[in-house]
Amino acid sequence: MSNHKPMLAPANVIYFVAVHVLALVAAPLWGLLVGFSGWVWLTAGVIWLFSGLSITAGYHRLWSHRSYQAAWPLKLFFVIFGTFALQNSVLVWCARHRLHHRFVDDVEHDPHSIRKSFWHAHIGWMLRHWPSSAVDFSQVSDLERDPLLKWQHRHYWVLTWLLNLGVPALLGLLVGEVIGMVLLAGAARLVFSQHCTFFINSLAHTWGKRHYSNDNTSRDNGWLALLTWGEGYHNFHHAFQADYRNGTRWWHFDPGKWLIAACSAAGLAGRLKRTPAFKIQRARVQMQFRQLENQLASTDAEATWARTIEREYQQFMDIVGQWQAVQAERVQAGGAALRNRWQKQEFRKRFGELDQVLKAQARRLSMLQQDWQAASRGA
Ligand SMILES: [Zn+2]
Ligand SMILES: [Zn+2]
Repeated sequence: MSNHKPMLAPANVIYFVAVHVLALVAAPLWGLLVGFSGWVWLTAGVIWLFSGLSITAGYHRLWSHRSYQAAWPLKLFFVIFGTFALQNSVLVWCARHRLHHRFVDDVEHDPHSIRKSFWHAHIGWMLRHWPSSAVDFSQVSDLERDPLLKWQHRHYWVLTWLLNLGVPALLGLLVGEVIGMVLLAGAARLVFSQHCTFFINSLAHTWGKRHYSNDNTSRDNGWLALLTWGEGYHNFHHAFQADYRNGTRWWHFDPGKWLIAACSAAGLAGRLKRTPAFKIQRARVQMQFRQLENQLASTDAEATWARTIEREYQQFMDIVGQWQAVQAERVQAGGAALRNRWQKQEFRKRFGELDQVLKAQARRLSMLQQDWQAASRGA
């Protein structure tokens, strides 16, 4: 890779400078000198909420990853409120996002590779004509067939101006606060929501834990989930991108997942893809073994530790083998087995037992890690 930087993208640079001046200088000054009414704050909050959820549940999980299916009223909601977020059309967004997953961290092909720099991953990739930022529409040939997405793409800039400037101005007229509404519900809300999304490309590839894989830089970070409607569990997401959830535990803050589940209950969404619990746990246990092996390689460990790890690993391979055998049996039994309630229950029981065995092993391995660390500190 050459160090020569490509030309600046003037339209993007002007936009980002202007919107930041409005959001960081003009809006606070207006707030201090004139003030914002509750209506303005409410409008900014509602647009922030709806547009954020539309990016997460719509642009990202529905269209980029096809992790569920949605009825047209829901799609229309996502298209309209997603446009409020000013992150380009669904087609452009998904084309780049699919490349990000395919080539994650690659400096030549990942549109916002963190290996270039934190700044590049966060915002720099949009400020210059980087070859990796070019849009490859062949990535989204499946989405190009959708008339709604084609319509949004064709009229994207008109829609963007109408929604981000026209709607706040109109609502401002109604409550008699045009400038306040444009500054807070327009510019400041936009800058805040954009940086929250950009953090997924920068912070979620820098700060947090890698529970499922260390093959790439993605991280799980519960704090970031609070700002991104649940997208903070990014290491999980890179490992299981087809899953409609990012935070899989019930206590994980993931409003994107809750919205999709609620829409499914209301009949607006269907065919939600979930990764089997066993596969999720298997990835976590594999990571534990990687950590233990690193520890083993870096310290002068006693032979007993190595033997214990070896024994645990054999047991792990055995459990995985058993799970694959039950899975193969179920596939062979075909659709009839799923309709037969007794058989269905029987498979559920066998899978459930293996889930428990693997969970118990994960607990044992973390105890092993802790004991070992304590022993090496004491030595
Ligand atoms: Zn990522
Ligand atoms: Zn993704």
